[in-house]
Amino acid sequence: MKRACVLAFLISFNVPLRAQTRAPLSPNDQRARDIFEQLININTTGSSGSTTVASNAMAKRLLDAGFPPGDVQVIGPADSKNHNLVARFRGTGTQKPILLLAHIDVVDPFTLLERDGFFYGRGTLDVKDGAAILVATLARLKQEGYRPNRDLILALTTGEEGGSDYNGVQWLLANHRDLIDAAYVINMDAGDPVILNGKRAFRSVQAAEKVYVTFKLEVHNPGGHSSLPTKDNAIYRLAAALGRLSAYDFPSQLNEITRASFAKWSPLQQGQIATDMAAVSRPTPDTAAIRRLSDASPLYNAQFRTTCVATQLAGGHAENALPQSASATVNCRMLPGTPQDDVQRTLVRVVADTAVAVSVVQPAVPSPAAALQGEAMDAIERVTKRLWNIPVIPVMETGATDGLYLRNAGIPVYGVSGVFVDINDIRAHGRDERIGVQDYYDGAEYIYQLVKAVSGSGGR
Ligand SMILES: [Zn+2]
Repeated sequence: MKRACVLAFLISFNVPLRAQTRAPLSPNDQRARDIFEQLININTTGSSGSTTVASNAMAKRLLDAGFPPGDVQVIGPADSKNHNLVARFRGTGTQKPILLLAHIDVVDPFTLLERDGFFYGRGTLDVKDGAAILVATLARLKQEGYRPNRDLILALTTGEEGGSDYNGVQWLLANHRDLIDAAYVINMDAGDPVILNGKRAFRSVQAAEKVYVTFKLEVHNPGGHSSLPTKDNAIYRLAAALGRLSAYDFPSQLNEITRASFAKWSPLQQGQIATDMAAVSRPTPDTAAIRRLSDASPLYNAQFRTTCVATQLAGGHAENALPQSASATVNCRMLPGTPQDDVQRTLVRVVADTAVAVSVVQPAVPSPAAALQGEAMDAIERVTKRLWNIPVIPVMETGATDGLYLRNAGIPVYGVSGVFVDINDIRAHGRDERIGVQDYYDGAEYIYQLVKAVSGSGGR
């Protein structure tokens, strides 16, 4: 999971202290808390834990809330201890279903601890908060007798963090697509509302992800004894090729999402950065502003262009022999919609040496961007204004989430978490991972209202 990447977009401020709140919990908050605590305390690491245990526990929550057993399934490969939960809240079927997604595997286990206004524990931020909120939301809606105008599908999946034996989303798409097929997806694992300088500043919506592809650059040579060197040396040729690659920038190219990001980030910035962000968001972007922003931060740079970077190097076989081969791994993150072949051709051209073979190590899984016009973004705007009155900023993430497989399968994905994160306090995967207690309850309310808004009764 990489949900925090985009947050680093903004400049650092001091971490604010938070007051401890001790008000009695409403029944809805209490339920959200109980589910969260139960989920955090179940070990769901890929190696030592089991997402099946967590899936069964969450399934029981839904059954207790009144879901028919036939609509709640815990499924996965027969030989795996990491199964997924898929549940369906049946609606009137007026519109195509919506998929509500969160992964429940974590990097390693921890127990929920509430202290000084925070929930601590592995997965509190990534992303058992979102999973618990989805279960609490569906249980609440069921108990309220809510009737959505479309089916609401819940999928709590395994394997996002890589420790599991397989990826739950990929497996569901390949084996049970009918169970999770939807008009679009709301993914808890990306797109956070953001606290900046102690204040709730904006909510991001992850509408696109860059596309991952890895190439190998390789040079072969007859070699020989190092006492009789020749000018034609595999290591030198590879090094020269990498030198040319390091000097190269892919052309800048804004899309609907990055243009909207910069337009909305601009008022949150100051000075030249603010001016430049406004300038690059215009229909004909200012190329000098793109250059300045690209130079100012690798995060801005990655928004503008496909990037390729050398990440691994190998070569030679003995200290006294001329190298018979030398190779480098080059990892690229392509703008959505970029054909892999185009990037490969560009690498060949930039390397400019036919002795350097450029091959694909890990092919791309294309991941189209979601539309910014339409009911999903409208509902997000509406609920965000009603509850928080802060700007909604669409973002293209430079990393990747499970949303990638769904996008690739033709199902648009919106990363929309409900829980505020502090830009200066990102601890996902850390031992002290935490979220604000009140932020959790507010997030549960937000997602509850959002789910209603996209299924017929959000009101205007
Ligand atoms: Zn995650």
